[in-house]
Amino acid sequence: MTINLYCLGASGEVGRSAFVLQTDKKVLLDYGVKIFGEMSKPTYPLKIENVKLDAAFISHAHLDHSGFVPNIYNFSKIPWYGTPPTYDIADVLWKDSMKIQKKGLPWGNSHYKKALKHWHPLMFEHWVGVGSTSFGFRDAGHISGSAMIDIKYNGKRILYSGDFKKENTRMHDGAKRVKENVDVLIIESTYADKEHPERHELEKKIADEIYETVNQGGTVLCPAFAVGRSQELIRIIRAHHQDIPIYLDGMSKEITRVYIKYKKYLKEPEKFIKDVESITFVESIRDRKNATIGGNVIISTAGMMEGGPAVNYIKYLNRESKIIFTGYCMEGTNGWLLQNKGQLYVDKNLLDVGLPVEYLDFSAHAGRNDLMELVNETEPNKIVCIHGDKTCTENFALELKGMGYDAIAPKCGDKIHLL
Ligand SMILES: [Zn+2]
Ligand SMILES: [Zn+2]
Repeated sequence: MTINLYCLGASGEVGRSAFVLQTDKKVLLDYGVKIFGEMSKPTYPLKIENVKLDAAFISHAHLDHSGFVPNIYNFSKIPWYGTPPTYDIADVLWKDSMKIQKKGLPWGNSHYKKALKHWHPLMFEHWVGVGSTSFGFRDAGHISGSAMIDIKYNGKRILYSGDFKKENTRMHDGAKRVKENVDVLIIESTYADKEHPERHELEKKIADEIYETVNQGGTVLCPAFAVGRSQELIRIIRAHHQDIPIYLDGMSKEITRVYIKYKKYLKEPEKFIKDVESITFVESIRDRKNATIGGNVIISTAGMMEGGPAVNYIKYLNRESKIIFTGYCMEGTNGWLLQNKGQLYVDKNLLDVGLPVEYLDFSAHAGRNDLMELVNETEPNKIVCIHGDKTCTENFALELKGMGYDAIAPKCGDKIHLL
């Protein structure tokens, strides 16, 4: 018996998670895109057109895990498995990719439609067989419907963590303790070198800043990721300020509707729905004008200010306003420029913004403690460190080796003999 892993992406890098696991069958674990790759252009996983695949399992809808699924249907007809929220959210994100990239995409509308057709739902704690290999999903606590992929073959067990979080947030309970030992752990390592600040401290900070700015007649603009962060911000702000008007703009509106559709995937669905009912979905020019008159909070895509309505609001904010980022911005993006140089591009013109800009680290990823906890729970014989930059994954693997584990940080293109 041999089990191999082919690394097609997310190895020594963040973005384009894509792996082929070979047991008695060949199965894709995630198939994502690196959205801001070389020269800020999308980078796709390494080619597998000649590999005869049997199925794909997609851990969650973020494009770095799901963004290349439609491309499968350029060369294959395999089923792909994901939770219902993964399916609906990926649908929104794929449509948006087609809209933004148009002819630049290696797949088009017909592949998108095939991808929708070849989806098979798989719920948390349920299992499905592909040949003699069983695949199960367990709640990863990262975004709605996000899963760890649990794999059993020939008495051996492999856990692919996907993106996960163990700390509770307002939207989700953290990933539950894994009670079983596994033979191989394939673990995200995005923040292996870092602990995130406590969420309740961050909440207090953002609540205070909003209060101050709004009280002085300013607007707080929160450029935020459409999936997960925008919804969490609604809950956080409402938990602290019931009366401050909140405007939601961009793709997060559609994603928020998906979150409500699959409310049983949320921690406190009734509270979320009540909070959403109290805010304004920006649908018209009048809404947009009202949002910037001062005394409000605007939550708008895009999180890194690359496109989306967030950029356009900048021109209309008054001098008392403030911009608060709650997610990471990659170097070279508009959000990064704004945080580091106080400037950004609006309609191709570089603009000096002249407003205070803040970054609060509300990460949806495991920090160091969470990663170590998962390692300790599962006591793996082998650990594959992925989904982190090169230095970070290599140092993490070294550290784990020092603890007595057989750990490896693969490069893209590597074939690893797991068992
Ligand atoms: Zn993710
Ligand atoms: Zn990811």
